[in-house]
Order: sequence, then structure tokens, then C-alpha cells
Amino acid sequence: MKFGGTSVASGENIRHIANLIANYVGQGYAIVAVISALKGVTDRLVEASEQAKNGNRDYIREFIQEIVEKHLTATRKAVENKVIRKAVEQEIRATVDELEKVLTGIIYLGELTPKSKDYVLSFGERLSTPIVWGALRDLGLNAQHYTGKDVGIVTDSNFGEASPLMNVTKHQVKEKIEPLLGKGIVPVVTGYIAATQDGVTTTLGRGGSDYTATIVGAALDVDEVWVWTDVDGLMTSDPKIVPSAKMMPELSFQEATEMTIFGAKAMHPRALEPVMEENIPVRIRNAFNPENPGTLIVKEQKIKPGDAVKAITLVKDVALVNVSGAGMVGAPGTAAKVFDVLGKENINILMISQSVSEANISFIIQRSLLERAVSTLEIALLGRGLIREVTAENDVCVVAVVGAGMKGTPGVASRIFTAIARKGINIRMIAQGSSELNISFVVKEIDGEETVRAVHEEFKLNKI
Ligand code: ASP
Ligand code: MG
Repeated sequence: MKFGGTSVASGENIRHIANLIANYVGQGYAIVAVISALKGVTDRLVEASEQAKNGNRDYIREFIQEIVEKHLTATRKAVENKVIRKAVEQEIRATVDELEKVLTGIIYLGELTPKSKDYVLSFGERLSTPIVWGALRDLGLNAQHYTGKDVGIVTDSNFGEASPLMNVTKHQVKEKIEPLLGKGIVPVVTGYIAATQDGVTTTLGRGGSDYTATIVGAALDVDEVWVWTDVDGLMTSDPKIVPSAKMMPELSFQEATEMTIFGAKAMHPRALEPVMEENIPVRIRNAFNPENPGTLIVKEQKIKPGDAVKAITLVKDVALVNVSGAGMVGAPGTAAKVFDVLGKENINILMISQSVSEANISFIIQRSLLERAVSTLEIALLGRGLIREVTAENDVCVVAVVGAGMKGTPGVASRIFTAIARKGINIRMIAQGSSELNISFVVKEIDGEETVRAVHEEFKLNKI
């Protein structure tokens, strides 16, 4: 069971999830709990690491005060027993002392490497996990807490977005955790953080606690991984855009992956990899509405006839870049050059399309990277006569329509585009992968929400 977001926002909520865990333990479940940082803390750590690099001592002094207070307040609300509370408080103080030393070191060095940043970011989970442990102890459970490193999660040294070395990790996690479960202990593990083979702290990328949960789940070959959050499950669309959006009871791994890649913030985009291989179902559930079974993500899924489109997501804050020039026609390697230049600048591409005329390539990137992308391309490619022009639009958004039933069902694209045309909305760019699991297209940002509503209505997703 992984707990994040609002479910670990306060001491009261931590008590609530401790009761939830205790309840399932009482029913005979063996549980490993994976815990995220208290809501907002990782963002604050990112900010603090920048301020430390800039030598802002006053900021860091206040920040340390704020962090210690926040966690001590949560502890007082979450843990009643005086002895247990004291133990948690001591651990928090010691951990914050270490954090202060690390940030002070960064102030002196005036340098923040990806490696030291991961070390700073690891403190959110290191501080939240003992509180959950205390709350479980308080309820009489035999709990023990560990970091991801303690339980044996080993990664490469790609700091900030490290990848688990699954073979060693699985072996070590199993060795460590299985005996604990055998003794009736509830292991409480920090999400998000791991270590290289040399023991240097790494993180699995923002939102990485989900990933920790599926890594541990795969290592132990669990029955299910439950991701507890503050919504009932994955929705057919964002209810803020489509008020009649419905919860999806079931979804395939592939569909869920398409959705998370396209910004449905329900899960870390890579979190499904470890469980997909082992065929372990994942359930997204609401910690504040545990009667609701949530959304089940499984391997195979029966597709009902007519059930083509499942969900629609809107990706904002993107920009469209168009590279054109007759020199590109029939010139192998042009696309490779364009993407190579961007890749070296660490600019991730969300969507690509090239017409058969080959006279232009369009692609979508994060809006904040637009200026860098355009100037990089101009410097690297314009002079060589390969391309004539780089143009960009920053008032666009991507609409991604997802559903395994679209595969091999003719007419889905035509229904989507007819529904949009009826609203008088113009489509700037279209892409469909040959997996046929999603159709993505680009419209003006001001038309984004209406486009989502039009497609939602066309496929009657409010009726599922
Ligand atoms: N605390 C980390 C983050 O905010 C990991 C997580 O919450 O899953 O990104
Ligand atoms: Mg998350």
C-alpha cells in the first residue's frame, strides 16, 4: 500500500491511514506500507536547495524552523502515546539536523550537483515515514520503518530520475522484507528514495513513491499493489473540465501507461513497468472513501463492443515547434539531427508528426523549454542549409484520446474529428502511434477544454 498526497498531508490524516492499515492487518492481510513526503515538502526542499546554492542563509534558517515545526506538529496529532511520540520526535530532530548540515554544506560550496540535490530531496520521505511508523505503533501494531536503501532498492546513478537495477533489487528486497512479514511485522518504507550500488542516495523521479511501491510489490510477488490517494480512481476526464466525468472501474496496463504519459497525474509514468512484467494488478483507491473499490489496472481486459474510447486527457503548458525546408526532402538523417540536437539539450519531445512531403517536422515540447529549443535548433541546423525555418506557437495544448478498444475499430478518428469540427475548432497537428491505443492532436489552448468536452460527449463517456 502506497500513501501519498492528501493522505499524508497532516497528523490527523496520518492517524486516519494508520487506522486503515490496522483495519486490513486485522482482517489478516500482510501489508508493506510505502510512504511519500508530507504534502508539499518535496517542493519546499527543491526550493531550499536552490536558495542554499545561492547562499541565502536567512532563508535556510527559517526553512529549517518551518520543517521541524511541520513534522513535530504532525507527530503530536498522529501519535498519542508519550514514549512512542518521544522516539519519533527525536528521530525528526536528528534527521532535520542532518538536513541543516547538508544545506549548510551547499551554502559553503555554492554548488548544487544532481547528486547533492537528490540527497536533499530524500529528506521528505525520511521525515514522514517515522511519523506513520509511530501512528501504527500507537495502534498496537508491530511496525518497523526503513528507507528504500535499507530494504535494498538499488539504482543506477542517474540522479534525479534513477532507474532501479531490478534483478539485484528484487533479490535484496525479498531477502529483507519476507522474513519481516513472516514475523507479523508491518514494514513501513520510504517511497521515492533509493541508493546506487555504492550506497549513494538517489531518487526515482518526482512522484516516485508509486514506483517504490510497484518495485517492492514485484519483488515480493504480492497479490495487488494499492495506491491510496484522495480521489476515487482514474476518471474518464478531468472533472474540472467535464463535470459529468466518471470513474473508470477497470483499465489495462497499456491504457493506464498512455494516460500517465499524457499527464494524468494519477501515477508515476514508469511505475507500471515492474508490475506489468509480473502481472500484478494495481488498484488506485481513495483513502477517504475506502468503501469505493477504486480503479483496477490489469493486464488483459475484456473490451466491450462499441467501447472504443476510454478517457481523454488535456496536456497544457506545451508548445509546438515546426522545422521546415525543402532541403529536408529525401535527406535521410534530418529527423535524427533535429532530435539529437534537442536530446543533447535535455529537451523531451511529447509528440511528433511529419507529413509524407517531408518538407516539415512538427513536434510538441514543454512550453518552458521553447526558447531554448528554438535557439538550439537555429544555431545547430539553419546554417547548414538543411532546414530553412524554425517556427513556434506557444498558445496550444494537446488532447489525448485513449482506449484499447480503438485498435482496429474503424471510424473512431472520424467521430473524434467530426465532433470537434462541429464546434468550429481547428486542429493544428495530429499523431497516432501504431499501437492505436491513443490518438493525440493539438488545438489552440483556448479551445482545449471545449474539445475535451466535445469528445467526451461524442463517446458518451458519462454513461459508462
Ligand atoms: N515526494 C516525492 C515527490 O513529491 C515522491 C512522491 O511523492 O511520490 O515527488
Ligand atoms: Mg503522486
